[in-house]
Amino acid sequence: MPSRKFADGEVVRGRWPGSSLYYEVEILSHDSTSQLYTVKYKDGTELELKENDIKPLTSFRQRKGGSTSSSPSRRRGSRSRSRSRSPGRLPKGARRSASASHQADIKETRREVEVKLTPLVLKPFGNSISRYNGDPEHIERNDVPHKNTQEKFNLSQESSYIATQYSPRPRREQIRLKEMDSKEEKFVTKELAVRRTFEVTPIRAKDLEFGGVPGVFLIMFGLPVFLFLLLLMCKQKDPSLLNFPPPLPALYELWETRVFGVYLLWFLIQALFYLLPIGKVVEGTPLIDGRRLKYRLNGFYAFILTSAVIGTCLFQGVEFHYVYRHFLQFALAATVFCVVLSVYLYTRSFKAPRKDLSPASSGNALYDFFIGRELNPRIGTFDLKYFCELRPGLIGWVVINLVMLLAEMKIQSRAVPSLAMILVNSFQLLYVVDALWNEEAVLTTMDIIHDGFGFMLAFGDLVWVPFIYSFQAFYLVSHPNEVSWPMASLMIVLKLCGYVIFRGANSQKNAFRKNPSDPKLSHLKTIHTSTGKNLLVSGWWGFVRHPNYLGDLIMALAWSLPCGFNHILPYFYVVYFTMLLVHREARDEYQCKKKYGVAWEKYCQRVPYRIFPYIY
Ligand code: NDP
Repeated sequence: MPSRKFADGEVVRGRWPGSSLYYEVEILSHDSTSQLYTVKYKDGTELELKENDIKPLTSFRQRKGGSTSSSPSRRRGSRSRSRSRSPGRLPKGARRSASASHQADIKETRREVEVKLTPLVLKPFGNSISRYNGDPEHIERNDVPHKNTQEKFNLSQESSYIATQYSPRPRREQIRLKEMDSKEEKFVTKELAVRRTFEVTPIRAKDLEFGGVPGVFLIMFGLPVFLFLLLLMCKQKDPSLLNFPPPLPALYELWETRVFGVYLLWFLIQALFYLLPIGKVVEGTPLIDGRRLKYRLNGFYAFILTSAVIGTCLFQGVEFHYVYRHFLQFALAATVFCVVLSVYLYTRSFKAPRKDLSPASSGNALYDFFIGRELNPRIGTFDLKYFCELRPGLIGWVVINLVMLLAEMKIQSRAVPSLAMILVNSFQLLYVVDALWNEEAVLTTMDIIHDGFGFMLAFGDLVWVPFIYSFQAFYLVSHPNEVSWPMASLMIVLKLCGYVIFRGANSQKNAFRKNPSDPKLSHLKTIHTSTGKNLLVSGWWGFVRHPNYLGDLIMALAWSLPCGFNHILPYFYVVYFTMLLVHREARDEYQCKKKYGVAWEKYCQRVPYRIFPYIY
């Protein structure tokens, strides 16, 4: 019987299939027939490896004596490790020197330090899912007493590309290495994704979000009711909370088939614009099986075309006041449409292969109807979720705002709209145009990469956004508020501050996710994670966690201020949005901790500030 070299439970290094990277793995078992070892990587991935692809830990320690492996894999492995420890990340003093002998000294010192570090890298199995090469927490745990050495590691724990700029390493080589790093990162991400194909297991009951099954039940019934109560409250002459509940109309008064027809027409026109073969086609983030879906970016064109259609209709004298007069009926039409769509999405999800299901789905029918089972439901190339995220609801929101502006002029007999109405319209127009202009950014949001397409997103995108986000404009139609120019200027400044933070943070993260080695981001510091992706620890994302939420909240306040302080109602959006973001931030922190493990904890230590620090 052939003997085995490694024992069960032994911690060794296993080669990642198809790559030259070696990671710390635990031997789980050995099959004497196939001669394959089942090993477990730190992130939980289990694979079968040949004996040749496994190295004892000591073989890595042997490098102390200066032994160099001639195998290409070893060479690349050491190159990869040098990403954070390369001569490109020299300590301050060394960076200034360009002499060859000094470089050799530095290389030697660094190699020694790497070796000294190794035993610390080989910590007990289990608590970390970090990548072997250049993992930050390994570096931070290094307690090599030499001050300069410590300094080097403080520097190398961040893959600050600034350091590379001053590196004595020839520039072309740096670029080549960076490209190799980037390729390797992509490769590892894809590989991990492929290996996790069959890990889409239903989430356990305790992991259900939104208060689990009772929570989503309440949300599904509560939100539509709440929406109508809010709109009815706003229609009252005195929309004070003391006048709650508002007089309720009979249900049949809320339904009008013609309104439903207009809503369908609107939806179909947007679908038609979506299908136009104009605009760039880009790839989304890798799916669980490594595939990348293609998305056409033509939201901004759809907005221009919609504006042209609306302009033509206005010119032709189409009565837009109809929408204001039937606002509640439109809200009901959108709600009915959303329910039908959700039923369709839920039903069709049972035909979808398991790998196409959302990681958020649970196996519970009600919960999955809410959160969505299928991640990216498509009819041919028509991506239903991506389409609904930004088109009918978001563009619909600005059209409704315009309707409110016209209604204000008509009802208040104004020759021009009020300054408050102009501010609300302009602020929100900027938000929508920005979202459409930066349409690609939606591809890295939680909605697209994590949540399925079910009632939650359908209702949010098609009902909540157009009918609640236009609430300030709706309020101003029947509750005018005069705003002075100095106050208007302050509101504009507030809005712009929020916008700069929001846009800066979102663009920085998107650019980084799109191309981690983008030269424009070379000044940013990052930390490595086991997934192959890095996390930004400087720039906007080093200032506070979720800086984009902060900017968004500031803008939300700026939208409400033009409505004055007579009633709390127009501030509903700020209150609701704060709650949404508190919850969203907690969800994302949880997901990121799961995704990145120790690396995320390191990020939290480096960036301890949260926008809602005391809530969770
Ligand atoms: P984010 O755009 O903030 O995405 C969160 C993801 O960003 C994380 O899962 C992680 O994903 C990545 N990330 C987190 N920290 C870092 C870091 N330090 N470095 C690099 N990547 C990091 O979240 P949302 O999708 O919730 O929001 C997107 C925008 O939409 C926000 O501006 C938000 O305010 C806005 N929004 C607006 C709503 C509205 O109703 N008006 C509703 C919801 C959101 P990974 O690492 O996998 O890339």
